[in-house]
Order: sequence, then C-alpha cells, then structure tokens
Amino acid sequence: MNPRQDATTKQLLFIPGPVTVSPAVLAAMARPLIDHRGPEYAALLGRLARGMQPIFGTKSDVVFLGSSGTGGLEAAVASMFSPGQRLLACPVGVFGKRFIEIAMSHALEVEVLQTPLGHRLDPAQLTARLRSSPRPFDGILLTHNETSTGVQNDMAALAQAIGDYPAAVIVDSVSGLAASAFEMDAWGFDVVVGATQKALAAPPGMAMVAVSARAWQRMARAVGSRFYLDLRKAREFAAHGQTPWTPPVSIAIALDVAIERYLAESPAGVWSRHARYGQAIRAAMAAIGVDVFSQPDAHSVTVVAMHAPPGIDVASVSAALREQHGIIIGGGQAELKGKILRMGTMGDLTPGDIIGALAALETVLREHGHRSQSGAGVSAALEIFNRKRLPEPAFFG
Ligand code: PLP
Repeated sequence: MNPRQDATTKQLLFIPGPVTVSPAVLAAMARPLIDHRGPEYAALLGRLARGMQPIFGTKSDVVFLGSSGTGGLEAAVASMFSPGQRLLACPVGVFGKRFIEIAMSHALEVEVLQTPLGHRLDPAQLTARLRSSPRPFDGILLTHNETSTGVQNDMAALAQAIGDYPAAVIVDSVSGLAASAFEMDAWGFDVVVGATQKALAAPPGMAMVAVSARAWQRMARAVGSRFYLDLRKAREFAAHGQTPWTPPVSIAIALDVAIERYLAESPAGVWSRHARYGQAIRAAMAAIGVDVFSQPDAHSVTVVAMHAPPGIDVASVSAALREQHGIIIGGGQAELKGKILRMGTMGDLTPGDIIGALAALETVLREHGHRSQSGAGVSAALEIFNRKRLPEPAFFG
C-alpha cells in the first residue's frame, strides 16, 4: 500500500461505473433534504422525467426507482410478463446472463440466442431466430452496452431486425444510456432501463425506467409477482409527483445537476467525448501491443476491454495502478476473470486524466514485463485528442 494512501488521496475511477463524479454533482448530494411528498420534490421529479425523456429518445413516461440498475431490470421483467411466458434472451456477456437469471427467477421460460464473447449481437441471427421459432416469443431481452466485454450493440439495426414482431422488447441500457444517441420511440422498444452511476456520472442509487404506451397496456394484463418494483405503482405515484416508497432524495438532487451538466455540454458533445476517449484508449493499446477484446464492429464507447498480455497478472497490475498511481481500473468477470482488463470512459474525466491513466497503465505493464516503447501509448492517444475534426467541444476546458 502506498504510504500516502488514505481516505483523502486522490483516486480516479476508470472502472465502468460507478464513475468519477464532478464536484458540482457531489456538492448537490450535500444539500438539505426535502420532503419527498412535498411540492419541491414533485417539481424535481417532473424535471428529472422531462430531462431523461430526450436522453432515452422517448416522449413516453420515465419513472424512477430507488435501486441500482438491476432493480430497474427486475422491475421491467416482473411488471411486463406473467409466469410461463416465453422470452428470447440475447446475452453478449455477464450482464445479459444476469438478465436471464432475473427472468427465470420470475418463472419465465427463456430461450437463449448465443453470441461469442467480444462480438455484438448479429441482427440477421436475431431475425432468423424470431422467424424460426415454432411458438412466438412474448418478450425479447436486449443489452445495449455489455460492460463485461466492452461490446456495444447496434440498437438501430436490432430494432430493424425485430421489425413488427409482436414481442415486448426490454433493453438494458444501464451502461449505454446517455453516452451515444438512443432512440427508444423510433426503434420501437417497450421498456428501457438506465442507472445514475454510469454515463450521466451521478452516484449510484437510482434506476431510470422508460416505458412505452404499448408496454403500459401489456402491464395492465400481466400477473407476475411484484411489489416494491411494480412499475405501474411507480407510474401512479409519478402522476402526483411522488414515488411509492421513500426515494433516494439526495441521488435525485444529484441527478438533476448531472442532467444540467449533460445539457450544458450538449448531447452531441457528451457522445463525442465518450467516443473519443474510447478511440484514444484503443489507439494507445494498439501502440503498446495490447489487443482489444471487442471485435472492430463491436467497440463500446463507454468501456474498453483488453486482453491481458501473456504472462501478466491482472490483479497485480490493478493493485499497482491503485496503490502507486491512484488509478482504478476493472478486471474481467466470470470466465474472463484474470484474462482481461477494462477501462471505462464515463465520468468526470478530462483528456488529461485519460492520458495520465494511460501513462500509468503502460508504465505498470512494462514493470510487469510487457515490452513496449516508453510513451508509445500516450503518444497514440494524444494523436487522437489532437485531431481537430469536431466542432471543439467544452470537454477540453
Ligand atoms: N447491466 C449492465 C450492462 C451493467 O453494466 C450493469 C452494471 O455495471 C448492470 C446491468 C447492473 O447494474 P447495477 O450494478 O447498477 O445493478
């Protein structure tokens, strides 16, 4: 342990959520609490819903749950379906598999369309599976961005692949939402789930769930068991500016500031920031001979997963980054544990932070025996940042 390490030592989170939160959002968490059944909270909740609608790309309702993203996914499944209904799950990693576990725990019948790790879901395969099923599916489970493999699905293409197939489409966009364009209404999705602690860069504690008009109709007929996570109840209370249960008030206040910051930077600015940070990290990895895990057509904008170079102990690299440089990165999960490293692009991070983290990573890898030219990764990342192809966004400030 670094002898200087204590609770106040600066650490930058490059894990793919929770992320480094800006001082303004952190300060919002310290504001006095307000009555969650009073007019100020009602105004706040209305503002949050209106703020989130364009981020989801919907004109429909957005409700808020006092839970992490998983609670939002469980709420969607429990509220939409009845035991025995058939779902097609399309996992591309750990979080897609968790989605299956949630569905099975609610007594749903789940068929799985498999995709090799590191690949995105193939729209043609999705269409083929829907067409070839002898019995129609009642629901389709999709992941927008798979945090465990650094893979992002092409949601527009998947929407097209589903076409007018009559199943309800539930989308986990926990680690994708707000980092790139999302068009829930245009793509015909029924329920989309996000969470505060990812691209919007607020602390963890709330799930945001967007629900289409068609989904509310289905929910009226669904008889699955649910109580705390009943989306219909959330909607009933939202009509009065409230949530059914005591909400995480401070997180709601923080999300309000996070949305203000998102708008001040502009959606296009936020999207290009994430895309560019991802490009810079991948360019750095290529320059130091570290292979990116995701396929070229499947790169996520919010997290880069890379193969651990041969002979490199991921746990030891992560520990050295944490203890000597204050840089916190992610490792692999499940079957990828010990095999990959993951670096997120989300949060209150500047290009300088990215460069600093890459400098630390290449240094630590070299100290662990990985051969590369000193500074090669940082130079490659700088090349990306120095390209003047965007209308200059505020994130260089
Ligand atoms: N889905 C995806 C794609 C995620 O990345 C995560 C968390 O990283 C989750 C679901 C679970 O969210 P939470 O940890 O907020 O419950």
